[in-house]
Amino acid sequence: MSILADLKMYTRFAWGLRGFLRQTITLEEARAIVRRRMAERETNFLRLVEKGIFGYPRSPYLPLLKLAQVELGDIQNMVRDKGLEDTLRALREAGVYVTFEEFKGREPIVRHGQVIPVQARDFDNPYLKPHYYARSGGTTGAGTRVPIDLDHLTAQAPNLMLAHHAHGLLGVPKAIWLSILPNSSGVNVTLRLARFGQVPKKWFSPVVASDLRPSLRSRLATKYIVAMGRLVGVPIPQPEPLSLDQAGVLARWMANTLKTHGSCLLITQPSKALRLCIAAREEGLDLTGAAFLVGGEPPTPAKAQAMTEVGARGLPGYWLTEVGAVGLGCVHPADLNDVHLFKDCVALIQYAREVPGSGITVDAFHFTTLLPTAPKLMLNVESDDYGVIETRSCGCPLESYGFTEHVRHIRSFRKLSGEGVTLVGSEMLHILEEVLPARFGGSPLDYQLLEEEDEQGFTRLSLLINPKIDIENEGEVIEAVLEALGQGSVAAGMARAIWTQARTLCVKRIEPVWTAQGKLMPLHMAKSSGEPRP
Ligand SMILES: [Zn+2]
Repeated sequence: MSILADLKMYTRFAWGLRGFLRQTITLEEARAIVRRRMAERETNFLRLVEKGIFGYPRSPYLPLLKLAQVELGDIQNMVRDKGLEDTLRALREAGVYVTFEEFKGREPIVRHGQVIPVQARDFDNPYLKPHYYARSGGTTGAGTRVPIDLDHLTAQAPNLMLAHHAHGLLGVPKAIWLSILPNSSGVNVTLRLARFGQVPKKWFSPVVASDLRPSLRSRLATKYIVAMGRLVGVPIPQPEPLSLDQAGVLARWMANTLKTHGSCLLITQPSKALRLCIAAREEGLDLTGAAFLVGGEPPTPAKAQAMTEVGARGLPGYWLTEVGAVGLGCVHPADLNDVHLFKDCVALIQYAREVPGSGITVDAFHFTTLLPTAPKLMLNVESDDYGVIETRSCGCPLESYGFTEHVRHIRSFRKLSGEGVTLVGSEMLHILEEVLPARFGGSPLDYQLLEEEDEQGFTRLSLLINPKIDIENEGEVIEAVLEALGQGSVAAGMARAIWTQARTLCVKRIEPVWTAQGKLMPLHMAKSSGEPRP
């Protein structure tokens, strides 16, 4: 992006933020917006297809639709006759979909022998004027930029407000323990909360400036957002560094807030919630009445149990950087990770695919964006997640808005997650297959990464190294992995910073377990939960 375009973007962000922060929505407005979007979801989809795909000659979806011999009129007829989800399934069947790697621009699209070269930015919503760009949390490689669009944050606020209301969390004092820019999670969560009058009281950041060396523009953007908030009377908290071993500070803040207000909410990742619960237990703090809104990694049974043991409740959220909020926890959940799909914002179907390098087939999630403000235009874009989608009557308030689909058991089949950092496997594969054999000897077959949960419930990444490789100091291998991560993308740099703090990586001198599952074994696959079909 040129300097001029950059400047324009920042000016727009600066200009827009003032208005964004000044206008908050009421619960009635939130309900009305969601009901209207639910009524118009097929129309919204068709408009995106008409303007964003057929009306945009550079759309990467156009060649796919052409190969499948599908015209705009066909899609319009299909939606009218079969409904939106069945149309998406039919399109998927006809080859109209984009894999995760293609969407990130890491691989060209290959269909029916034809090669369609693509870059990540080809999928940007062509009608969007992004206010600010942040780095996608879970991406690796060349560092995918995702626009933070104030209009899109505005569009998501109603869903989140309704979910907060359903869980009795409106008006409850809130804190977040999320990263600062260039990672967008902290800013996005804060701004969305501000939009419905729920700005957090505290913002703790697990990465400190010295870990990550955020660019001047990231630091200035954070300062600007905080200062603008103050100016218009929205007290956005200044981010305070809080490393992983300082969880006790936040546990005490929660305990004190509970004494004065009776309830409080912390928004963070499950692993950080676990740290906080352990700190609370060690200090004998009672967190009865507290809630954790967690996302970014699966809330495993051990992590959920830690929350209930200190008297708190866990509430799962499902987010995708490119989409925003996908769903939020049911009030009467069937399991730990049971969220209501925000059907007004996104359509979700499943389609079987094989996990690369394994004999396992999973029903991968395919997302289609429905809101005109979505930063990326997605038509059956496959994510690395899979799980259960079911229509169930739970009797909770979220159902009454038409959010009848529940998404459960959400797991990733190719990502590694630990301490709230998600790393897509490809970057780690390069380290396992090239960096380590080159430096320490052996072949790619001698190294494997296994995600495991330790006895406390923390996610550990065990680097399995064949004992026949002669390595004097195992610490050097970990150093080499972290160093290689630091040289990769911003997201990998984030992984390095957090995993070093949390000592997430450890070495095990055993022969790699060459099951069907391949080189990277994410937590659920290591446990072989029975969900994936061999
Ligand atoms: Zn529910």
